[in-house]
Amino acid sequence: MGRRIVVIGGGECGTRAALALRACGFDGPISVVDSDPFAPYERPPLSKAALGDATAGPPGGGVLGSLRSASIEFVYGRIEAIDRRAGRVLFEGRREMSYDRLLIATGARASSLSVPGGEHALRLRTWQDVLRLRDQLQPGMTAVVIGGGFLGLEIAACAALRGCSVTVLEQAFHVLERLVPASIASVVAARHRRERVDIRCGARVAAVRRAGRRFAVEVHDSDAFVADVVIAAVGARPNTDLAGAAGLRTEAGIVVDSRFATSDGAIFAAGDCCSFPLPFADCARLRLESWRNAVDQGDAAALALLGASRPYTAVPWFWSDQYDLTLQIAGVPSLGAREVLRVREDGVEIRFDLASDGRLVSASAIGEGDSVAKDIRLAVLAIGRGSCPSSVDLADPARPLRAVLLNDGAHARRNDEAQRIRR
Ligand SMILES: Cc1cc2nc3c(=O)[nH]c(=O)nc-3n(C[C@H](O)[C@H](O)[C@H](O)COP(=O)(O)OP(=O)(O)OC[C@H]3O[C@@H](n4cnc5c(N)ncnc54)[C@H](O)[C@@H]3O)c2cc1C
Repeated sequence: MGRRIVVIGGGECGTRAALALRACGFDGPISVVDSDPFAPYERPPLSKAALGDATAGPPGGGVLGSLRSASIEFVYGRIEAIDRRAGRVLFEGRREMSYDRLLIATGARASSLSVPGGEHALRLRTWQDVLRLRDQLQPGMTAVVIGGGFLGLEIAACAALRGCSVTVLEQAFHVLERLVPASIASVVAARHRRERVDIRCGARVAAVRRAGRRFAVEVHDSDAFVADVVIAAVGARPNTDLAGAAGLRTEAGIVVDSRFATSDGAIFAAGDCCSFPLPFADCARLRLESWRNAVDQGDAAALALLGASRPYTAVPWFWSDQYDLTLQIAGVPSLGAREVLRVREDGVEIRFDLASDGRLVSASAIGEGDSVAKDIRLAVLAIGRGSCPSSVDLADPARPLRAVLLNDGAHARRNDEAQRIRR
């Protein structure tokens, strides 16, 4: 031990990895470098409590203290380049730092709105963005949110609760279109409409113009929407520039193997910035933007940095809070070949996606508070085990879900096949 490990990025993944290195017994120097001027914080609350409550401070302020207690150096600064041959990172200015092992956890940045006047639209990724948005979203203001994905809808919910008049412009035919089944999206949209959020689907923004002290958001084949504040929530782009410039392989993210190693054996990448092979999807490559993923990959990357060879197998899990509703997704819905709907006695719908070979690959549901948490947790376990539940049993709310999901999967699949043959 005693080698120096440098982590670029003090977000969820980078700080988690640094703390996990210590927890695993690594006693050499660890430095975490981040270009954000604030102490490390969590991002999920930025579009929830932190945006809704004008007095809230940066979330998760305890991380810096945990790093210090673990003798982990936290450095404020931007890394400009990686010199792989010399094994060092170069800061803005003349400073440099050598490494024996490097973890790139540079996350992602909010995509800009690529239409004329797109620069007028505010974005949300950092604590600084929250401060700017909170300042703008005053009661009685009119806000247009461009993008009806999770982030756009969470921002819309906060703005509505702050007393703004809110319109969401979504170019797809329903909100959350690429992300959740239509039945779940419609529950979300209905909840927003109850809060008088005006959701316009099929609305393609053409330009954002200044209109005096306000803005006009021009939409193809529609009248313009005039607003005091325009916010773009149109996706995020992985921060791969450093890795790319250093000659590491990048595609939709920094390409890593199942142990988060890049094409350079001394350099690893994890979290929002990396594209990794997903075992339960036959190792199809995926880049995820999810808090749980950043945490799990931070832990796994720490082990890999210390030489462990165990491949990463965690099942993706994501949540979104809007008003009193929580939506949860386990696995990857797009891997499904057929869906099974289970309508619980309390009316909550859980949608399961099964691959063509019968394996459960995803489950999604929405409900008040944590009412869907237990079922989604069971689904995470079942997906991780490769369970092949009977679709008849899955759809039957009288059958206990634990038994349906976690009983011997092969047995359940044989049952399904037998039923098909009998039919
Ligand atoms: C507003 C918001 C709400 C969210 N809500 C949810 C949610 O409800 N549920 C959920 O599951 N997920 C949510 N997410 C996603 C989740 O927060 C992210 O997936 C997670 O934070 C990713 O962690 P990360 O460490 O990989 O990247 P990041 O958190 O992006 O951290 C990367 C860090 O690297 C630093 N950095 C980048 N380049 C450099 C450089 N060259 N030099 C130095 N430092 C650099 C950045 O400053 C940043 O701090 C949300 C994200 C956002 C933005």
